[in-house]
Amino acid sequence: MSRQPLPHRPQPNSDDFLPTTQQEMARRNWRQLDILLVSGDAYVDHPGFGIPLLARLLESKGYKVGIIDQPRWDTPDDIKRMGRPRLFCGICAGAMDSLLCHYTSFRKKRRDDACTPGGVAGKRPNRASIVYANLAKAAFPGLPIILGGVEASLRKAAHYDFWTDTLRRSILLDAKANLLVYGMGELAMLEIARRLDANEPLEGIRGTARIGVPPENAQRLPSFEEIQQDKSLLIKATLQLEDHYHNGTIPLDQPHGNQHVIIEPAAPPLTTQQMDALYSLPFTRRQHPKYDQPVPALDMLRFSVTAVRGCAGGCAFCSIAQHQGRKITSRSTESLVAEITRLTKMPEWRGSISDVGGPTANLWGSTCKAGYKNCHRTSCLTPEICPNLVLDLNAYVSMLQRLKAIPGVKHISVASGLRHDAALREPEAARKLVANFVGGHLKLAPEHCSDKVLKLMRKPSFEKFERFLDIFQATSAQHGKEQYIIPYIISAYPGCEMSDMRTVANWFRKRGWQPQQIQCFIPTPGTLATAMFYAEKDFNGNPIHVPKTDREREDQHAVLIKKKAAQID
Ligand code: SF4
Repeated sequence: MSRQPLPHRPQPNSDDFLPTTQQEMARRNWRQLDILLVSGDAYVDHPGFGIPLLARLLESKGYKVGIIDQPRWDTPDDIKRMGRPRLFCGICAGAMDSLLCHYTSFRKKRRDDACTPGGVAGKRPNRASIVYANLAKAAFPGLPIILGGVEASLRKAAHYDFWTDTLRRSILLDAKANLLVYGMGELAMLEIARRLDANEPLEGIRGTARIGVPPENAQRLPSFEEIQQDKSLLIKATLQLEDHYHNGTIPLDQPHGNQHVIIEPAAPPLTTQQMDALYSLPFTRRQHPKYDQPVPALDMLRFSVTAVRGCAGGCAFCSIAQHQGRKITSRSTESLVAEITRLTKMPEWRGSISDVGGPTANLWGSTCKAGYKNCHRTSCLTPEICPNLVLDLNAYVSMLQRLKAIPGVKHISVASGLRHDAALREPEAARKLVANFVGGHLKLAPEHCSDKVLKLMRKPSFEKFERFLDIFQATSAQHGKEQYIIPYIISAYPGCEMSDMRTVANWFRKRGWQPQQIQCFIPTPGTLATAMFYAEKDFNGNPIHVPKTDREREDQHAVLIKKKAAQID
């Protein structure tokens, strides 16, 4: 394969990146790394990629950090190539669970991978966290191994694994890592580095899990064996984990045989000042120059900025509540202005910001009047918006207007999802948003038309989506804009029957629309919907119909595919 520079792409110098080889270490006069980070993704120095984000943060605190991206897994040679680090080796499967990355909802092999040069599939192993952790242990006996990222985070406790249709133990038992960092890892990683540097033990760090002796005050989760005996206990455990993420002050203890997985309370979300500082670090926003093919995810993300973290929605199928939490943190407008001003100086800049968002863009600036304290609701938005939730769409739109006024900026679009129920609270601001910041298509996630299914998803009623759609269409027409809403729909969700899918298909048919974004439900590890899929019960323990066989899942999905939809009566 050619090693020629990519045409029309400015070539960064590898010295602008953290080291990936001994030669790059030598050019910095580094003889030994403090921390080695191993990732299943390509090395893209952009804050939208977890390992490079953490690496820049650790670097800013004075640690010597190296990155090994997509190592071979039949030998530890790649992981060993920069030598043994002084403090620890951090392991991450990549931006996605490796099985979700490799297989479709019908368990077919995917042919591409957006986080790999050339979009090539198969550059990381299945269960990458376990494989890399075992490689690192073989390469560096006795070195602390720290797991992190989405795959580890959502498999920290006993979980259902769709791809093998089994209940699996905590990933800590298979990876035999010293510690697992769950959720957004910045504060935990800094504390781990500090403690290892000071020769202090790793127990009790917020946002981590480990195998050990449970403290006396630990709250017990159903054990792995108890869940094996009674599937509905996975629902109970998942609800406990959700509440613990939001309110936890003491550790959880989940027995697995005679071993115990101890889950410390979640790390607090970063403050606005911490977020601002993090996103001001010197990211090149480029892929490492050693690649001879573009990394597709970078083309999507290069000119997007993160404005908000956390999601108040708590949708039952979504992992964000368990990975970022429900508490919202927003970056300041000044910090966003500074970041976009830097982007306008890049040679690739063409005038457009593709997204100003996060898990839910229009929750930027929102907060809880009660300070998020002692709240055992599972969602701030459903079944109805909590009276304590302070929403400010007007402030979000004003912030976007401020960004659009930056010299050199021609367009600002919002590509992250929006909560239409929250937007309905401020119809005037919603009209401004639709008139000025939709890049032709707006993604919305009603997810279904059947209120019965929507309740099981913890989503708002469908009537709210239709009201937002009316505002969207009227505003677009008034401003002479040809723009569309793309509704995201999930088929074969737990509790969804064929009649519910026909309701969805008929709604599209009446409007003359062809559904474009249909996702057959994938029971990903750690979510409440996955526990419902496994137990065949709703979150109150009542039996529900769950489309489980591939045949029924395919049939439900096919109701929304064009040829079949024409046959619906
Ligand atoms: S009190 Fe309301 S706004 Fe605050 S965390 Fe609870 S549900 Fe969310």
